[in-house]
Amino acid sequence: MERASGKETINVLRRLIAYSGKIFHFSRDIVTHISGQRRKPRISTAAVVKSSLVLFWARMGSSNAWERVGRARFWQGWLQEPTFSADTLGRVHALLDTDGLRQGIHDVYQRLKRNKALPDIYGLGVVVLDGHESHASYLRHCPGCLQRTIHCEGGERIQFYHWQVTLLLLSGAPLGGEAVRLFLDHEPQWPGEDEVETALRLLARVIPAYPRAFDLVLADALYAKASFFNYLLARGKHALVVLKEERRNLYQDVAGLFDHVAPQQGRYRSRQCCWWDFPDLLSWPQVQAPVRVIRSLETYAVRRQLDKQDDPQSSDWIWVTTLSPTQVPVERAVHWGHQRWDIENYGFNDLANEWHSDHVFKRDPGAIECFLLVAFLAYNIFHAFLARNVKPAARQSKTQIFWAKLIAAELYGDLTPAGMPP
Ligand SMILES: [Zn+2]
Repeated sequence: MERASGKETINVLRRLIAYSGKIFHFSRDIVTHISGQRRKPRISTAAVVKSSLVLFWARMGSSNAWERVGRARFWQGWLQEPTFSADTLGRVHALLDTDGLRQGIHDVYQRLKRNKALPDIYGLGVVVLDGHESHASYLRHCPGCLQRTIHCEGGERIQFYHWQVTLLLLSGAPLGGEAVRLFLDHEPQWPGEDEVETALRLLARVIPAYPRAFDLVLADALYAKASFFNYLLARGKHALVVLKEERRNLYQDVAGLFDHVAPQQGRYRSRQCCWWDFPDLLSWPQVQAPVRVIRSLETYAVRRQLDKQDDPQSSDWIWVTTLSPTQVPVERAVHWGHQRWDIENYGFNDLANEWHSDHVFKRDPGAIECFLLVAFLAYNIFHAFLARNVKPAARQSKTQIFWAKLIAAELYGDLTPAGMPP
């Protein structure tokens, strides 16, 4: 058992709040820019946003948790007004101003950028774009739901769900520091729309808001579409996307070359790689520039639990990109190709499994959109705090859940049941 001893690990919540105030002017600026479409509110919009921020930090995204800890003394100091029900929390989120929330996320980005906490990776700003499902249900739905038919034992059932296209900014590690990843924005997919259309709507908002934040967009095979590539090229951005057989002409063109061209040897982490690099391909004429295809055939060993023998494994990756070899050597492109997974490994897994960003406080498209934006704010500030404000020795070998439990403990600590001996 690890003891929460020493100055580094106590009062995490209060330190996180102090950090948010000092670096981002959270209560003074960010929260006051978020208005709600409510007349004469009894409960302020600021109090509602500040509450859900702390609930995300404590990983308590549920109505029950809110009802449990809502009596803690902590809230009087933090909100400067009385707390409210989980119903109110959901209802007010449905009416929050999404522009104000997005501006808050931008403020956090801008401050970290100015403080040199978000260095480029090999000289380029890099984002990952990906779709993510939330709020699947057979029973309940709202006007923002998408639907699909699920074949089950008892026949076919209609399932309702939400889908958002999300943008995560990656960054390099600053000198002596740790890399910070920021969720920049998300856009809900509408019924009848495909994911790439949603992504273009997202980029149409994000690129003007963050003109210099990124040069390169990483995405999965779904985005190997001419409309996506051309959209980015027209705005001076690059794409690096997984290539699968569906993109037939281009794929067949390069597949015929693999057997005839000797690969170059390389390494990605502990993996031995064979790399093929074919620039200036014209076999995707719908894209308004020549493209480049890179393949990385990687071999590595996994130690078997049972007999401690090494089990040889291999993985085969093919990407298509608009980056030229003079801009970017093959090993960097391979590194970025793998970084596409950061949005799963560090982003969605964290948010959905640990932060409970999918909890339904109110099944309403506006509430779902706003809760996710507040979750992004909470995630970005928390990870910046951890990387920038907690010493490496204190951070080392602690899981996310360790910090969440410390934060939750500060709320529960206020709730000594009546009748307990002092
Ligand atoms: Zn819905």
